[in-house]
Amino acid sequence: MDNKLKIRFLGGSSEVGRLGLTLETDGLRMLFDYGLSPGKPPTYPLDAPPLDIIFLSHSHLDHSGMMPYLCSRTETQVMTTNLTREISEILQIDSIKVAKMEGYPVPYSKAEIRASRSSYIDVEPSQIRDIAGTEVHFHSAGHIPGSLMFELRGTRNILFTGDINVINTHLIWGAHPVKCDILFLEATYAGRDHPDRGELEKEFLDKIDEVVSRGGIVIAPAFAVARTQELLMILDKAGYDVWLDGMGKKIAKIFLDYPQHLRAPNKLRKALENVNLVYSNHGRKLALKGEIILTTSGMLDGGPVLWYINKLKEDKRNAIFLTGYQVEGTNGRLLLDKKKIDLYGVVEKVRCKVDYFDFSAHAGHSQLIEFAKACEPEKIVLFHSDDRKPLIDPLSEFAEVYTPDDNEILEI
Ligand SMILES: [Zn+2]
Ligand SMILES: [Zn+2]
Repeated sequence: MDNKLKIRFLGGSSEVGRLGLTLETDGLRMLFDYGLSPGKPPTYPLDAPPLDIIFLSHSHLDHSGMMPYLCSRTETQVMTTNLTREISEILQIDSIKVAKMEGYPVPYSKAEIRASRSSYIDVEPSQIRDIAGTEVHFHSAGHIPGSLMFELRGTRNILFTGDINVINTHLIWGAHPVKCDILFLEATYAGRDHPDRGELEKEFLDKIDEVVSRGGIVIAPAFAVARTQELLMILDKAGYDVWLDGMGKKIAKIFLDYPQHLRAPNKLRKALENVNLVYSNHGRKLALKGEIILTTSGMLDGGPVLWYINKLKEDKRNAIFLTGYQVEGTNGRLLLDKKKIDLYGVVEKVRCKVDYFDFSAHAGHSQLIEFAKACEPEKIVLFHSDDRKPLIDPLSEFAEVYTPDDNEILEI
């Protein structure tokens, strides 16, 4: 049997977006993830060749966004957790809504999303499946609830990380290294380390305290999937009057249906019980009298957060605490760099305090090196990064490092 590994990225090799990776080995053709980049306009990966099996690491749109397109055109099955399938569907439906609002063509319909359900096979961490003689082991990726790494035990052992985080957060446990010959390592944070999580949480709560004690309100924009729930759990310990609005409410309830993917489901349940949930305009007005408003979207490109910012931005006692990375070109980036925000088409100055807290769900630079070393690979393929260079030298000390571009065929 041909035991060379043939690698081709359909997208996402050198950007944090639209990931798709095909691997051919031991007579098997596989696809890992098939996402989109939800920019203006959205961008998509190259068309996929005929496949034997598809693996989906997690629900974020840059990994899952084009699955319905693929599923409506092939019979190939997709292995992922049920939780990932359920959250992907919500994000895919939302991406259609956003594309329509912004006047971009949509790659698939709601009906195609629903029809693609039958393509999915539920797999869970620590399970093993045999696919045409290759043993596939599933491991938690520690990135968001339901996220997986895939280990293939064939002629050579391969690990595909998807997106990973190695630290334990309130929501989930960090990922553990897996011994392999060839490691496909995400490199989002190549060249950048995160602050210590415990210190960051303390700083976040201290700064909230400053705002609340001077009579202000904190708006904490947060990604709906995982960030919102992590922050809920952090805030629950501090006992503030917290108001939760946006898609994060629905996602929190879905997470609770899958307690096996959470580190402390009871703590999340309790945190959710202790906040005020906002479902109406009346609720939004009440939230303006609270202490913290936790809401979507995380990069301020839509969602209820804009309504709150519009109401609260003039008062210097208030604050907007961004809680995730702000991509170039987003409203959140504009706010962080220039203290300005695009509110329904008009760019306005913001007078309240603005701060950023790095609650990342990705392993940082040094953590990626440590993780890779512990996997003891002969070869490492880096992907999913705007700039993979900073990792090449440190990883080359113990493995051969590859940085293929999209559509380039690499055989190793
Ligand atoms: Zn992700
Ligand atoms: Zn990603």
